[in-house]
Amino acid sequence: MGLTAFRTCALTTPFTWSGSKVLPFTMPFSRFPFRRLAALALLSLATSCGSDSTDDPTPGPVLAESQHLALGNPSGATVDPSKPTNYLLLKNQYTLSYHRDRGTPNWVSWHLEQADLGPADRQDDFRADASLPSGWYQVQSSSYSGSGFDRGHNCPSAARTATEADNSATFLMSNMIPQAPNNNQRTWNNMEAYTRTLVSATQEVYVIMGSYGKGGVGSNGPASTLDNGRITVPARIWKVVVVLPVGNDDARRVSSSTRVIAVDTPNENSVSSSWGQYRVSVDAIEAATGLDLLSGVPTSVQATLEAKVDNGPTQ
Ligand code: MN
Ligand code: MN
Repeated sequence: MGLTAFRTCALTTPFTWSGSKVLPFTMPFSRFPFRRLAALALLSLATSCGSDSTDDPTPGPVLAESQHLALGNPSGATVDPSKPTNYLLLKNQYTLSYHRDRGTPNWVSWHLEQADLGPADRQDDFRADASLPSGWYQVQSSSYSGSGFDRGHNCPSAARTATEADNSATFLMSNMIPQAPNNNQRTWNNMEAYTRTLVSATQEVYVIMGSYGKGGVGSNGPASTLDNGRITVPARIWKVVVVLPVGNDDARRVSSSTRVIAVDTPNENSVSSSWGQYRVSVDAIEAATGLDLLSGVPTSVQATLEAKVDNGPTQ
């Protein structure tokens, strides 16, 4: 992982990412390698250098930021193997908080724009994530075999088709949860397809997906763990989608009228294919999980937006 640690906050100027995106992050500008979708660590903004901070180089926990975390790091995950239940994994294609002892992510966050949707075929190369800290169990491509649960993507294959490499990255097992087949193939598939229809030359989205609790019902009936206890089957699977006009400085453009779609579904094969009926407020997901979603958005806007339940179209 090309993680470069910066200890100070030298500039407060917004900087251009990939020629089009401006992140309001404070960082040592001249040393950053400009590269489209590079999820390299822009350093640590949330604690030591908040976006409204001065140049004070206050030492603090090193958090990494990426394009995919422009709206916040919901659990304050860090690249610190001594915190194995909330370990930040930065990929070019998405960012996640990994829970070593559950063998799944807590949440995965990604930005989705028109340039992410291209001609690449589905690679189907499910594989262990060798980037996990040494000594940690790596969930295998075969770990879910015969369980009655799908290898359910968090960041979807169909949302990363610009290149074969981007698509392949979604098949790392660190991006998977044991997902009831009807949830994965119907409910979730329908919501993912709808989400892609929201992406255009004039509209972009942020998506955060996660899971919590223990015990689901797959095609072989109930289960709490897989792979000799090394993988926890979540009870609930949630997602939050934030829809914005294409532009820069995204967290600051989220307003009390921005469309935010949040769902919380049972990880059970009896789940309805109509994802819209599972819509909840962001606050409800925060209460259930202990996360702070959209933490990069001004708190007054969060308070308004997160209390609402979406009632817009679902297809
Ligand atoms: Mn809230
Ligand atoms: Mn929040």
